[in-house]
Amino acid sequence: MSFDRVLIWLPPIICFASIWGLLSLFVWSAWQALRQGTVHLKRLHAIPCDRCVYFTGDFRLKCTVRPVEAMTEDALGCRDFEPISKPIPQRDPQKSCGTCSKCNCSISKAKPTCATASKASRL
Ligand code: SF4
Repeated sequence: MSFDRVLIWLPPIICFASIWGLLSLFVWSAWQALRQGTVHLKRLHAIPCDRCVYFTGDFRLKCTVRPVEAMTEDALGCRDFEPISKPIPQRDPQKSCGTCSKCNCSISKAKPTCATASKASRL
């Protein structure tokens, strides 16, 4: 093979290798950015402030106990975290108490003291 033929094939080979090298580098860096973003998002979702009783939801005073650390990564593992208790489920006033089938009172089954049920039990 003469030196002239090598000179003819050398630029396309260099361009081909450069393009594929740059494309590979781009894909690798995009994958790394996606992985780091996912890890950071998981860490941010672990901040417990939105489930805490001391969180006010007001941007001027986010937390009444630790206003500086609230909603930041410093709040991870906060010692003052107090979970919000679940609200007490309310009974539907349209449903029957279950004591009798005649009324639509909202008295719970634990205390069957509705007037219709007590009249029925006396008879
Ligand atoms: S007490 Fe801690 S967990 Fe609760 S809102 Fe304040 S900083 Fe967040």
